[in-house]
Order: sequence, then structure tokens, then C-alpha cells
Amino acid sequence: MIPATFKYQRAHSVDDAIAALAKDPGAKLLQGGHSLLPLMKLRLARPGLVVDIGQLAELRTIDVKADSVFIGAAVRYHEIADHAPLAQVMPVLKKTVSVIADPQVRHRGTIGGSAAHADPTSDLAAVFLAADARFMVRGPGGERVIRAADWYVAPLITALASDEVLLGIEFARPSPDHQTYLKFAHPASGYALAGVAALVSYDATLHVTKAQIAVTGAGVLPFRAKPAENFLTGERLTRESAEQAAQLGADAGEYEGDVQYPAEYRKNLARVMIRRALESLA
Ligand SMILES: Cc1cc2nc3c(=O)[nH]c(=O)nc-3n(C[C@H](O)[C@H](O)[C@H](O)COP(=O)(O)OP(=O)(O)OC[C@H]3O[C@@H](n4cnc5c(N)ncnc54)[C@H](O)[C@@H]3O)c2cc1C
Repeated sequence: MIPATFKYQRAHSVDDAIAALAKDPGAKLLQGGHSLLPLMKLRLARPGLVVDIGQLAELRTIDVKADSVFIGAAVRYHEIADHAPLAQVMPVLKKTVSVIADPQVRHRGTIGGSAAHADPTSDLAAVFLAADARFMVRGPGGERVIRAADWYVAPLITALASDEVLLGIEFARPSPDHQTYLKFAHPASGYALAGVAALVSYDATLHVTKAQIAVTGAGVLPFRAKPAENFLTGERLTRESAEQAAQLGADAGEYEGDVQYPAEYRKNLARVMIRRALESLA
């Protein structure tokens, strides 16, 4: 559990970090270190250079505006949970970060580190997809925006280039009124076996006007449950419609089994968790 030899550099700005990445294509950025360092200790990652950007003020802002919310890449989970204006406009973020791991991880882990690591069981992945997050990135060629739908390319692989830095994540406002994140955690690791983010608006008679639902953990990649959203829109949110939507939503995922959890189990769990998430919002 000892990493291979590496050099450590603290970046003084994002541009400084981009320059370091350009010089050494094998270099890795470091924020909270809760994903990168375990990989290095297992020697699954062996960067020759680690560029620390976790302290950069330009990556640590939370900006709640009238039409959008911006969260800097190096904002830590506990800072998201403790930010009252953010909790008011996007309560699903607080709900989600509050069920990630333990206080130690929540005090070091960052929203941007989670996004860039792209673990297919990441809790926040469901929120990014459901809320149509926009990933703001900067590289040697300037800045660009990557939509959540394009972000997750494969397990642990994103659309981010190796010389780009994730600056932060933006969400459009207003987001749907009723929001939740529900997780069925792996009993040993605590990671999501199935986690569902559901953002729903409905009128006084419980007729759904907007539904945004995504699932993490259960599938090969986190996925958006579009068929469930389409079915629900215009329907009354009831136990029966939640069940039907959940079935359609689970069908939207691609599942692979492992020795503990066969694909059918994972799909069924996705269905159950979508239904529970929707029922909890009604
Ligand atoms: C014991 C334990 C339990 C955990 N349980 C859970 C859980 O229940 N649910 C869950 O979702 N997660 C869990 N995690 C994972 C954790 O939430 C995140 O993966 C982690 O905190 C990522 O943030 P970080 O700042 O630590 O990233 P780091 O480890 O610093 O970086 C992760 C990766 O992102 C890259 N990176 C970091 N910042 C940037 C940037 N700005 N631009 C581009 N690339 C960047 C790094 O180069 C690295 O490849 C757990 C981790 C541990 C150690």
C-alpha cells in the first residue's frame, strides 16, 4: 500500500495547473485525494507528477444566482451540505452528499473530484444527470462546456481531456420543486448498489409537470431514466404511476452482473429505488 515514487507540485492557479498537465501528460490533478490516493497506493495509478489544486480559491466558490447555481470543482461535500442558500434552491445536493461515506470523506472529498473520477457508483452522478448539470472545463485551448449527458463515457472515463481542468459544475434554475436522492448502499462498502435522484414538479392535483430521474450504481454507467420521465409527465403521481414509471425507468439501464449481484438483481433494485424515490415525493 505504498505508492510508486512521484513528484508533488502545488499549483498557484488553474492556468499553472494546465501548464503542468501540458508538460507532463502522465501528471494527475489532486483535490481531496480520496479517490486518487487509494488508486496510487494500490499502484493502479502511477503518475510521475501530482499537481495539487485543492486549495485554489478560484475552484472553491459556490454561487447561487437567479437563473443558475455554480459550484467550484474543489468545493468539499461538507461545504455543500452546510450552504443554506444552496440547500434551499437545490435540496437534492445536500441530501446526496450527506449519504456519501463518512465524515472524514465528506470533509475532504470534492464535487469535482467525484465528477472527474467518474466511478459509476458515485452518488452525485445521479444528481448531475437528473439535473442536467453542465461541466465547465478549461484547457490549453480555452474553456468549454460539457453536458452531463456527454460526461460519462465509460466507467472511470469522462469526456474531459487529459490536459483539461474541471472548473466547476453549473445547474440551471429553477429546478423542480420536489427533489430527493435515495440510495440502497452496498452493505460493506457503503457505495450505491442503486441510487436514484428524482426531481419532480407537480400541480395541486398531483399531476406531474416535469420529471427528471437518474440512476447510479446499478448499471454499467449512471443513466437517465427518460422513459419514466416521459410516462410520468401529465400523469398523477400515485403509487401505481410510480410503479409503472419505475419499470420503464429501470428498462433504460444497461446492466452487468457480478459474482454477488446478478444483472437481474441490479435491474430490479433500480426499479424498486425509482419507485421509492417517486413515492417519497408524492
Ligand atoms: C472510504 C471511502 C468511502 C467512499 N464512499 C463513497 C460513497 O459512498 N459514495 C460516493 O459517491 N463516493 C464515495 N467515495 C469516493 C469519494 O466520494 C470521491 O471519489 C472522492 O472524494 C473524489 O473527490 P476528491 O476531491 O477526493 O478527488 P481526488 O482523489 O483528489 O481526485 C479524483 C480524480 O479526479 C481528478 N481530478 C480532481 N480534481 C480535478 C479537476 N478539477 N479537474 C480534472 N480532474 C480532476 C484527479 O486527477 C483524480 O483522477 C468514497 C471514498 C472513500 C475513500
